[in-house]
Amino acid sequence: MPRLVVSGGRIGNAPPPGARRIDLAGRCVLPGLNDAHVHFPTWSLGLRQVRLEDVPSRSEAVALVAEALPAVPPGGWLRGLGWRDAGWTEPPARGALDAVAPDVPVALMSRDYHSLWLNSAALARAGGDLEAPGGVVERDEQGEPTGVLRENAAWRFRDRHVLPSLDEMVEASREGLRVAASRGVTAIHDKDGWLGSLEVFQRLHERDELTLRVWQSLPAERLPHLRALGLRSGFGDDMLRVGYLKLFMDGTLGSATARLLDGSGVEITTREQLEEVVREAAAAGWPVAVHAIGDAANRAALDAFEAAAGAWRPLGLRQRIEHAQLLDDAELPRFEETGVTASVQFSHAPSDRDLADRLWEGHRGAYAYGALIERGARLANGSDAPVEELDPLRGIAAGVLRTLDERPAWRPEHAVTVEQALRATCVEPAWLARDEHRRGRLVPGMLADLVVLDRDPVSCPPHELRDIRVLATMVGGSFTHVSDDPFLGICDES
Ligand SMILES: [Zn+2]
Repeated sequence: MPRLVVSGGRIGNAPPPGARRIDLAGRCVLPGLNDAHVHFPTWSLGLRQVRLEDVPSRSEAVALVAEALPAVPPGGWLRGLGWRDAGWTEPPARGALDAVAPDVPVALMSRDYHSLWLNSAALARAGGDLEAPGGVVERDEQGEPTGVLRENAAWRFRDRHVLPSLDEMVEASREGLRVAASRGVTAIHDKDGWLGSLEVFQRLHERDELTLRVWQSLPAERLPHLRALGLRSGFGDDMLRVGYLKLFMDGTLGSATARLLDGSGVEITTREQLEEVVREAAAAGWPVAVHAIGDAANRAALDAFEAAAGAWRPLGLRQRIEHAQLLDDAELPRFEETGVTASVQFSHAPSDRDLADRLWEGHRGAYAYGALIERGARLANGSDAPVEELDPLRGIAAGVLRTLDERPAWRPEHAVTVEQALRATCVEPAWLARDEHRRGRLVPGMLADLVVLDRDPVSCPPHELRDIRVLATMVGGSFTHVSDDPFLGICDES
């Protein structure tokens, strides 16, 4: 019978005297699951918001808003997210929301986070000041705002009027931590640094409430402040560390702003600018994570990392491209050559398949995870929650099966194996966070971060991957989640 010893928060060699014994009855134990790309406070807040994913019409979206209105505290906002109007016959418009919410301000973020749908009470908060460079304010024939803002106009409105308070984020993240633990998550790479998540996590950590390990991003434009403070990547402790700088090369698939080799899309950062950022960041001790969706954006990002390699490679900085969604064949081997990690989201492939078939018709290298691994790339898997659910097992199933509904696999030639998906979820994110010597394997001396599953993903039939349940989660030798499955008896023993 295989046995795992946990002692002093780490995997041990021999059980200490008086050790408590837990019989897992043949269940499967794996290193803890990571989410290498998550907007944790935003996702946590989303757990309480109106969710409009897969809502098929405007009227059904409005009905969900009406249902949620009574729970809005006096003076508060009704926030929602997840709508996609591609198949709607009526476009999003403020009038439809005003009919059910004449007084409470309503702000509904689209699924790709690039459009904001507001009612008149919300629009009134801006006093007519809606325009922003790089943004779109949709207007009717009379020149009045329809209630839909896009790109910079959406983000500016959100940042000025709709952002949650720090207390709201802390409160929501407390619940988020419970849900994450129930899904086997022991570590995350957070992307909400711009929103203040470092302070959110610090507050939780001060009260001993932080139950997963955090590798925190900060916006690249804060580099001068970090340099002034003398703060370098890795500062923090076992649970919470500042890790890397984040910036954007281009837009997204959903809003048709991804930058493609055919010249379409939006360029947010040029190749030269990124090279400069990578050099300056390296000089100050920081790796960079750059969002790149389109094939042109990915090529430019790899060019920049390569051009600046003399500055960062000798320091061993762990650079990464976030998403790497559409790649020209020429770029596939370049991840291995440059040593840049592809930080991908397996679940995006089945979620985006219809959109990708339409907008990227004829492009073979979309969501080409299997091909990337074949060409030697290091892949880390995340969810981009709240864009997808924070649920690594779902991501693993998506990577292997390339479908999450009843349809056949989408571009199965780009599937990964279960072992590859687990490696991208349990091992590589730990490497990115410079934790390969203490996380990602269950051998003596490593931190006791693990998950107990009801079956072994490697040996179970592939169609069962979507049914695997998390029975327990442990971080640093303490259980952060124990399911009510009676067989374990973890709670009864002492
Ligand atoms: Zn993201």
